[in-house]
Amino acid sequence: MKKLLLALPLLALSACAEVTDEPKNVILLIGDGMGEAEISVTRNYEFDSGPGMFLDTMETKSSAIVISKRNDNAENIAFVGDSASGGTALATGELTSVRRIATTAQYGAPIKTIAEEAKEKGIKVGLVTTAVITDATPASFASHADDRYCMKAGDSVCTATSVPIIDQMLALDMEVLLGGGYQLLPAAKDQGTIRDYALSSGYNIVTDKAGLEKAGGDKLWGIFSDYHLPRPWIAEDGKPAEKVTVDTDGQVVFPDAQRCIANTAHKDIPSLEMMTEKALNNLSQNNDKGFFLMVEGASIDKAAHDADICGSMGSMLEFDRTAKLAVEYAKTHPNTVVIITADHGGSTQNIHHPYYEDYNRTAENLPGLYEMLLTNGGNEMTVYYGTDNIDDQAHTGINVPVYSYGLPEDLIFKATIRQTEIKPVMAKYLFE
Ligand SMILES: [Zn+2]
Repeated sequence: MKKLLLALPLLALSACAEVTDEPKNVILLIGDGMGEAEISVTRNYEFDSGPGMFLDTMETKSSAIVISKRNDNAENIAFVGDSASGGTALATGELTSVRRIATTAQYGAPIKTIAEEAKEKGIKVGLVTTAVITDATPASFASHADDRYCMKAGDSVCTATSVPIIDQMLALDMEVLLGGGYQLLPAAKDQGTIRDYALSSGYNIVTDKAGLEKAGGDKLWGIFSDYHLPRPWIAEDGKPAEKVTVDTDGQVVFPDAQRCIANTAHKDIPSLEMMTEKALNNLSQNNDKGFFLMVEGASIDKAAHDADICGSMGSMLEFDRTAKLAVEYAKTHPNTVVIITADHGGSTQNIHHPYYEDYNRTAENLPGLYEMLLTNGGNEMTVYYGTDNIDDQAHTGINVPVYSYGLPEDLIFKATIRQTEIKPVMAKYLFE
């Protein structure tokens, strides 16, 4: 009798906890290479003056300091990172060096990620990207590697002991994977291929937009291109930013002002919004434990590397629309938090129009690459890339924005933070 009396309040307590303990969800959106410069140029092109992007309406905004570590001496800071070190900072709350995927700088010890912790607790996980799914940002959440380019068996940087990123990602048993990477499917795995392994692990593999629209099932792997997905926009002349030239009179000539146009190669692939919507639908079905979803707008950075401002801005606007979709989801689904940030900035610069006649400029003292754009409002805008004269612009160590929606007051990011402070807040919200 005494035993029964003791047991009753315990039962009542646990029943009560069941009712009030609603599942929580975190949606983390990462604009790859989305520094304030990339946001500003896009806003200027599309809206000419004043706010106009969805991100401009986010009421809670902070700024994150982005640094990484040196791999030759982990005690030393490297002020500019890459998507591997930035992704690792966001996924684990720890700093590492460039090219490392959730492993410590210099020593290579694995660092547990928020996605791994979520899976251990029965929380569903989804990763969505416009890059190959094994690219550094998604990889940082779901694998551990000394080198980000060991994506599949046979990749040249893989060593005898390394487990390729795709093998690790599939083994984590995440519910949704959407991005690029047909070339991963035939890679060797055990006695067969990655495709065999994914199918035997219960993944429904879809390879086009129609397949994605129809796809159901608990575990979905959507692949929509051989490697990275095409960018939404290209420049009218199809070319990235260019060096100035000199005419027959010895006068410096800048590239013609132009508009960005839709990239036909992007038409038949699912947009980032469509992939995100699908991921949210799948993750929220039959789910009493909550989910963690990471969505990456990868091409903001990929295009900036190529000095392709139209590619970068089209991707930036697609990311902005996706941010809106995520916040609208959170508004209609209680206990959902949205955090929007970047892994690092790019080297896009919005500079004043070079009135070269006044300054007696010559081609020699005008280094770098120029794109002259005509904005929606018909204004001229000069965009400049000056870190590489050939084909690979650098990242920068600029702060990146951190927007949030739905965080409890005590967790809201205030003032300037370190990038490594974001993961502990997501973990506290999701797990405690
Ligand atoms: Zn990059």
